[in-house]
Amino acid sequence: MTTQPRSANTQARFSFEFFPAKTEVGEEKLKEVHRQLALLKPDFFSVTYGAGGSTRDGTRQAVTNIHNAGSNVAPHLSFGGSSEEEILALLQYYKDLGITRLVALRGDVPSGTGATSSYYYANELVELVRRKTGNHFHIEVACYPEIHPKSESYESDLYYFKKKVDAGADSAITQYFYNADAYFYYVDRCKALGVEIPIVPGIMPITNYSNLARFSGNCGAEIPRWVRQRLQGYGDDVDSIRQFGDEVVTRLCETLLDGGAPGLHFYTMNQYTSVSTLWNNLGLGER
Ligand code: FAD
Repeated sequence: MTTQPRSANTQARFSFEFFPAKTEVGEEKLKEVHRQLALLKPDFFSVTYGAGGSTRDGTRQAVTNIHNAGSNVAPHLSFGGSSEEEILALLQYYKDLGITRLVALRGDVPSGTGATSSYYYANELVELVRRKTGNHFHIEVACYPEIHPKSESYESDLYYFKKKVDAGADSAITQYFYNADAYFYYVDRCKALGVEIPIVPGIMPITNYSNLARFSGNCGAEIPRWVRQRLQGYGDDVDSIRQFGDEVVTRLCETLLDGGAPGLHFYTMNQYTSVSTLWNNLGLGER
């Protein structure tokens, strides 16, 4: 495994994603994980948001804590079932706090809300943020090298991604994937359409097979057959799963960075160990 610093691209950016804790114990743990990961000096943290506002308060609190602890932090935001007034109030809160980056999403449609909001797709949220706050926020959007699971076709997903860029997105973070070719092909297709913003791979560490398989099935991320077979074969042997997972994901990250990816965004799942292992394997501490 490499320990060489991968610093050829000095502009490369690195970020860590959290989800808001649901309990006081979880909140304290998140503060500690943030404290440890902050020592790695990522460019920013981000905090997810429940569509329909289910974690709105949790997101706002976690963002406030991370900001007050001295880190750059980007709240995720989606319209979900909220009114325009509620979204604008939240934007104003973040602006007043000194937040300058957002991750703008449609979010997953909450069941039972009727989803009547007129701002529904992410491109509409990007347009709203630009219209109301000008260039205050650096706006990140999501994209899907293996294509969003509900998309009609590869072309339509690219088309709607470009709409978000045309609406004013500054950069994009991908859904996680384990096939580097899917990413490079996607970036090439985007460039052919005139999309020039940085497309940063989202990286999901592998620590647990059944959770990963369930989550991947929902979000349309493919686990290659050989990885699946290997992980299944380890059964309950958590150490072997971790060791193999770290090796697979480290290689993926190396391939992506060596192939010109503009950085990496790690889905931390609020855990320190797996991300810090990848970080060390990639020599990112030497940046
Ligand atoms: P959109 O870009 O709006 O696209 C959604 C789907 O609709 C796609 O199939 C697209 O092709 C299609 N589409 C887009 N625009 C139109 C249009 N105008 N007309 C017709 N079809 C259209 N979920 C959460 O709930 N909270 C989070 O914090 C969160 N963070 C995420 C962070 C990242 C980096 C990623 C990759 C995903 C995240 N998700 C999160 C999941 C995401 O919300 C879901 O994948 C959701 O289903 C799509 O969101 P989007 O912003 O990509 O939607």
